[in-house]
Amino acid sequence: MSNNDLKDIPNNGLKDFDIKEVLPKIHKVMIDDTTLRDGEQTAGVVFANEEKIRIAKLLDAVGVRQIEAGVPAMGGDEKATIKKIAGLGLNASVLGWNRAVLKDIQHSIDCGVDAVAISVAVSDIHIKNKLKKDRQWVLDSISKAVDFAKKNNLYVSVNAEDASRAELDFLIEFGLNAKEAGADRLRFCDTIGLLDPFQTHRIVSNLIKETGIDIEMHTHNDFGMATANALAGVKAGATWVNTTVNGLGERAGNAALEEVVMATKYIGKVDLGFKTEMFRELSEYVALASARSVPIWKAIVGTNVFAHESGIHADGIIKDPKTYEAFSPEEVGLTRQLVIGKHSGGNSIRSKFHEYGIEVTSEEAQEILTEVRKTAVELKRALFDKELVYIYKDYKSRHKRHLN
Ligand code: MN
Repeated sequence: MSNNDLKDIPNNGLKDFDIKEVLPKIHKVMIDDTTLRDGEQTAGVVFANEEKIRIAKLLDAVGVRQIEAGVPAMGGDEKATIKKIAGLGLNASVLGWNRAVLKDIQHSIDCGVDAVAISVAVSDIHIKNKLKKDRQWVLDSISKAVDFAKKNNLYVSVNAEDASRAELDFLIEFGLNAKEAGADRLRFCDTIGLLDPFQTHRIVSNLIKETGIDIEMHTHNDFGMATANALAGVKAGATWVNTTVNGLGERAGNAALEEVVMATKYIGKVDLGFKTEMFRELSEYVALASARSVPIWKAIVGTNVFAHESGIHADGIIKDPKTYEAFSPEEVGLTRQLVIGKHSGGNSIRSKFHEYGIEVTSEEAQEILTEVRKTAVELKRALFDKELVYIYKDYKSRHKRHLN
C-alpha cells in the first residue's frame, strides 16, 4: 500500500507517528474547461453562438484558467464564435482544438487564440483501426504540428487520445517526443473512461517520472469515475484538469467542473480560489443552453443536495448542519431545505412550523406527524408547506372540538 492509499484512512489508534505528515498533499491545479468543445460534442447538443459567448464569460468569471472554445477547423459559425471569444479580453486563456494537421492549426491561428490542443490517438487500436497508420506516423505528425504551433507563439497541449489503452512504453515515448518538439503539456485522455483511480495514479505517476512534462487530466465518466480519476491524476502530480460544467460530454460525459473544484477543496484540502457561489447559476445556464437538465441529485449542484427529510438527518441538521452536510449550500449557490414527508420526525415538524411563527409542542408534533405520514403515502410524495398548514388547521379544529 502506498502512502497515498492511506490518506483517507482515519488515524485511529496510531500513536507512533502523525499519518498526515508522511502523506503527499494535493497541490494547486489549474482548470481548463471544455464545456464548449467536448461538452458540445454530447450527442444532440448544439449551443447557439451567443450561448457559447455567454458560457465563456461565465467560465472566466468563475475562475477557469483556460477555456477550450471549440474546433476552429469546422469553419463557419464555430470559427467565427471562437474568434469572438478570443477577442473578449477575458482573463482566461482561450484554446482551440485541432487534429495534428497544419491547416487545422492555421484555422486556430486565424481565430486569435493563444493556445491550441493538438490531438492524435496513441493506442494501437486507434492507430491501426481508425487512423490506418503506425506509431512512427503518430510521432512524426505530432512533431511537425507542435513545431508549427510553437513557431506561431502558441501555448501547446498535446492530446494523447485513448492514452489509457496505449502501451505505457509508447505513451512515454510519445510524451518525450511531444516535449522535445516544444509542447507545454500533455493531455492524458481516458477517452472511453475505463480506468479506476488506482490504475490512473500508477500510469500518470510513471508518465510524469519518465517524461517530466506537465500533465493534464481528461477523464470520461463511462463507469462513473471521471471525477475520481481526475483527482487520482492530480494526486499523482498532474497540474491541469480538463472539465465540463454539469459533466456534459461524449457518452456518459466528462469530469464535472463543479465536482473537481469542490472535491479538490474538501477532499484534497486545496482551495483553487473559484467563485463557487456561482456554480448553481453556471450549471443552470449550461443546462438551459444544452437542453440537458441537471438531475436533482447531481453531486454539488443538484437542488436536492441540501434537502433533508428523514427524521434522524433533519434532526441533526437542525442542531448542526455539519452533521449531514459536507459544506454549506451558500458555497455553491444553493439553499437548504427541510422536506416534510413520510420520513420526517417530530423535530422537523416543530422546526418547520417555527419558521411560520407557530410553536407546537412535542406532543402536538407527534399527532401532526401521524397525519403528515398518512397524507404523504396517499400522495406518494413530500408535502408542500400549504398542505402542512391545512393539516395543522384540521388538527387544531379537531382538538378544539375535543376540548369542548
Ligand atoms: Mn473527450
